[in-house]
Amino acid sequence: MNAGIVTVSYIAASVLFILSLGGLSNQESARRGNLYGMVGMAIAILFTLVTPQIGGLGLLIPVMLVGGAIGSVVAARVQMTSMPQLVAGFHSFVGLAAVLVGIANYLDPSIHYANHTERVIHESEIFVGVFIGALTFTGSIVAFGKLQGIIGSKPLTLPGRHAINFGMILVSIYLGSLFVGATPEHEHLWPLMVMTLISFVLGAHLVMAIGGADMPVVVSMLNSYSGWAAAATGFMLSNDVLIVVGSLVGSSGAILSYIMCRAMARSFISVILGGFGVEAGTAAAGSTAEQGPVTSITAEETAQLLLESKSVVIIPGYGMAVAQAQHPVYELTKFLRERGCNVRFAIHPVAGRLPGHMNVLLAEAKVPYDIVLEMDEINEDFPSTDVAIVLGANDIVNPGAQDDPSSPIYGMPVLECWKGGTVIVSKRSMASGYSGVDNPLFYKDNTRMLFGDAKKTVEAVLAAVKQ
Ligand code: NDP
Repeated sequence: MNAGIVTVSYIAASVLFILSLGGLSNQESARRGNLYGMVGMAIAILFTLVTPQIGGLGLLIPVMLVGGAIGSVVAARVQMTSMPQLVAGFHSFVGLAAVLVGIANYLDPSIHYANHTERVIHESEIFVGVFIGALTFTGSIVAFGKLQGIIGSKPLTLPGRHAINFGMILVSIYLGSLFVGATPEHEHLWPLMVMTLISFVLGAHLVMAIGGADMPVVVSMLNSYSGWAAAATGFMLSNDVLIVVGSLVGSSGAILSYIMCRAMARSFISVILGGFGVEAGTAAAGSTAEQGPVTSITAEETAQLLLESKSVVIIPGYGMAVAQAQHPVYELTKFLRERGCNVRFAIHPVAGRLPGHMNVLLAEAKVPYDIVLEMDEINEDFPSTDVAIVLGANDIVNPGAQDDPSSPIYGMPVLECWKGGTVIVSKRSMASGYSGVDNPLFYKDNTRMLFGDAKKTVEAVLAAVKQ
C-alpha cells in the first residue's frame, strides 16, 4: 500500500477520534461520538494491517479475531455495575502491551540507527514507554481488585511510603542512564528488565495507597496513564496514529482526573501519592457511629408524601445501579410530573463507580436530559424542595463531609439534601458506602429510612401512588 494513502487514512482516523471526544462531551451527542471513534479505530487498524512493515498476517489476523471475539463477549455480558472493573482491566492490557512492545522493540536485530543521537532518542522512548506501561499494568490490576472487592478499599499506608516511591523513581532513572546508548547494541537488556520490575512494584504500591472515596480519580488517572503508554508505543513503532490516539486519551484522562479532583475538593498530587480513606464497611475514626435512633417509613407512607409534594429531587447512587432501579424510578417520575409535581434528578460527579455512571443509567431509562441536573445546578434548590429521595446513594449525601473535620471525606462537596423538607433514604441496611464512612444523614430529624432493595421499593411506591 502506498505510504501516502496510509498517511491520509491516519489523518482521517485522527480527525474522527477528535470528533469522537467532542461528541462524548455531551449526552445528546455521545452516541454519535462513540460511532466516530469506532469508525476511526476501524480505519486505523485496517490501514495499519496493509502497511509494508506489517508481516505475518497469517498469525496476526486469527489472533485479532480471537481477541476481538473475547472482547465482544465480555463487553456484551458485563453488568453496568461492573463497568469500572472492566475499564481498569482494559487499561492493564494497554500497559502490558507497552511493556512487551518496548522489550521486543529493543531486541529487534533489524533495527539500525543512522547515528548515536537517533539511537539515544529511540532507546529513551523505549525506556520511558516500558516504565509507564509497567506502572499502568500493575496499577490497573490493583484498581481492578479494589473495584471488584477482591482487595480491600483500605489504603495501604506503609511508613515512609513517599520515600519508598521516590527511591524507586531515582533507581529507575539511574537504570535508564545505564540502558540508553549502552554498547553492544540490543544486548543491554538487564537495566530495562530491572526497571520493569521496579515499575511493576511502584504501580501496585501507588494504587494500594489510595483508598475509599478517591478511587474515581484513580480510574481516570489510570485512563490517562494508559493513553501515555499507548503514545510511547507509537513513538517506539514510529506509528503516527498511535501517538495521536495515545496523546488524546492521555490528555483527556488527565483533564478528567483534574475535574474529578476539583469536584471532590482534593489536591491532584495528594491523591496520586495516596493514603486517604478507610476500610469499606466500617465506621470511620471520628465518625459518630452511635447517633441515636433512625425513623423508617413504608412505601405507602412515601407514596402519600410524594402525592402531597410540589417539588421532588431524586438523588441516584451506586445502589440504583446495583438494583437496576432506573426504569421504575422514571415511571414514578413521569406519574408525578403528570400530576404537576416538579420532579428532577441530582447528579453528583462521583456518584456510582464510574464518571457519568448515573447519567448513562438514566439515559438508558430515557429520562429527559433537562430534568437531570449537576450538583452545582441543584444544590441551592434543596431548601425549597419538599421531598428528596436518596436512591441507593450514601457518600455523596454525607453531611459529615461539610461539618465533621475528622471525617475522611471532609471537604468533599456533597448534595445538601437535608436542607429541604423530608429526606427519604432508600437502601437495604445501615451499611456505609464505598468510603466506609458512617452517614449522619440517616439520623437527622427530617430523614426517613425506606429499607429494601431500591428497585423493589420504588416499584412498591409506584404501585401505591397509582392506587
Ligand atoms: P456509595 O457506595 O456511597 O453508597 C451506595 C449505597 O447503595 C450503599 O450504602 C448501599 O447500602 C446501597 N445499596 C447497594 N445495593 C443496593 C440495592 N440493591 N438497593 C438499594 N440500595 C443499595 O455510593 P454513592 O453513589 O453515594 O457514592 C459513590 C462512592 O463510590 C463514592 O465514595 C465515590 O468516591 C466512590 N467511587 C466512585 C467512582 C466514580 O467514578 N463515580 C469510582 C470508584 C469509587 P446498603 O448496603 O445498605 O443497601
